[in-house]
Amino acid sequence: MIKTIQELKNLEGKRVLLRTDFDVSLDQKSGEVKDDFRIRAGLETIDFLLKKRVKLIIIAHLGRPGGKVVEELRLKPVYELLRTKYKLPINYYQESRGEEVKKRIKKIKEGEIVLLENLRFYPEEEKNDPDFAKELVNLADFFINDAFAVSHRSHTSTVEITKYLPSYAGFSLIREIETLSKLKETPQRPLIILLGGAKISDKIGVLRNFRKMADWILIGGALANNFLKAEGYEIGISLIEPGKIKETRELLENSNSDVKANYNYSFCVDNCKVIGGEKIILPCDLKVISGRKIKTKKINQIKKFDQILDIGPATIDLFSKVLREAKIIFWNGPMGFFEDRRFISGTKEIAKTILESKAQVVIGGGDTISAIKNYSSKMEKRGNIFISVGGGAMLDFLAGKSLPGIEVLEAQCS
Ligand code: ADP
Ligand code: MG
Repeated sequence: MIKTIQELKNLEGKRVLLRTDFDVSLDQKSGEVKDDFRIRAGLETIDFLLKKRVKLIIIAHLGRPGGKVVEELRLKPVYELLRTKYKLPINYYQESRGEEVKKRIKKIKEGEIVLLENLRFYPEEEKNDPDFAKELVNLADFFINDAFAVSHRSHTSTVEITKYLPSYAGFSLIREIETLSKLKETPQRPLIILLGGAKISDKIGVLRNFRKMADWILIGGALANNFLKAEGYEIGISLIEPGKIKETRELLENSNSDVKANYNYSFCVDNCKVIGGEKIILPCDLKVISGRKIKTKKINQIKKFDQILDIGPATIDLFSKVLREAKIIFWNGPMGFFEDRRFISGTKEIAKTILESKAQVVIGGGDTISAIKNYSSKMEKRGNIFISVGGGAMLDFLAGKSLPGIEVLEAQCS
């Protein structure tokens, strides 16, 4: 149980402190916001509060300045976007604490916003610091957390702050909790987990948690390299997370022996065959750099100096066939090194398959979202596709871990 923003009554004229997630990527040259997906996710809460005529104080972070002022990581571009594109009545102050901030906040009128500076410019933010928390709470009557993507962190603005103010969850945070809980607790079948990206240690918790429940687990991206190596295949000079092969092998053995796939389909594409009963499905062909050429190779043809950078066309077909059987899909992690356009097709084709799918779909992960940027606004319009704002927070939630930022909100109910 969690107290939600809808429970707040008599808000007019109250000072509300809102922790949002404005951690967006910026264009390196222009410094402007490149993708405002996370900002869009937070607008419902902001609009709701403005309609209630509160005095709104927004706190947020951007990037990893490491406790000091980094000019390129000021929240100014976010402020500009909110003011111009979304026409919000917003002011911006280039600090988050001190006498000047207090003075400014005294001057806000009902139905107006003040955006404070990047919280992570202050080393105290990441130290869950009581003094910093007290300074922030002195600015307001209520606290609302709407930043799911940082709720796995014990920071001042996610945890400590809730000790001193009545605290509630905003709409984005509520939606994340509800959607991800449904995926974890009452999934329809077939349930398909599609994982890619780079670091297996980030994803292994999800793999373990869904090992029994999922019908199929499709693995692409550099993640697949770990699995292929664990299966004894040559992977050349491809990216791998060292020290994880033993764990990967254990996962493969457990998933494919004691827990059989729940559906007995037989997928067959080209010469690669996946028989029902084998839960973890690995790529059957790959796009590699071999010498100076880009080649598509079967998984048993990889040479010592080849570099795997995308899934191949037969794998795209295979994964798409499996995904078309799904009632529920969870996707995290690009299928290849998408930053280089020569290796984007795996991710792009999978995004297209998902766009056509009638299944309930949850997609998440910072790089995944930037990789599917061209599809995300279409996806957002589809009622069956949910794009999570959380990267690490989403993976922790789905791995069954308790998130400190949510825990403290739940504690307010007991
Ligand atoms: P997310 O942020 O969506 O959770 P990750 O951070 O796990 O995703 O991984 C994204 C990164 O993985 C991207 O930078 C992408 O280029 C990289 N990647 C995916 N496949 C490969 C590959 N075969 N070789 C090298 N890098 C890869
Ligand atoms: Mg990432």
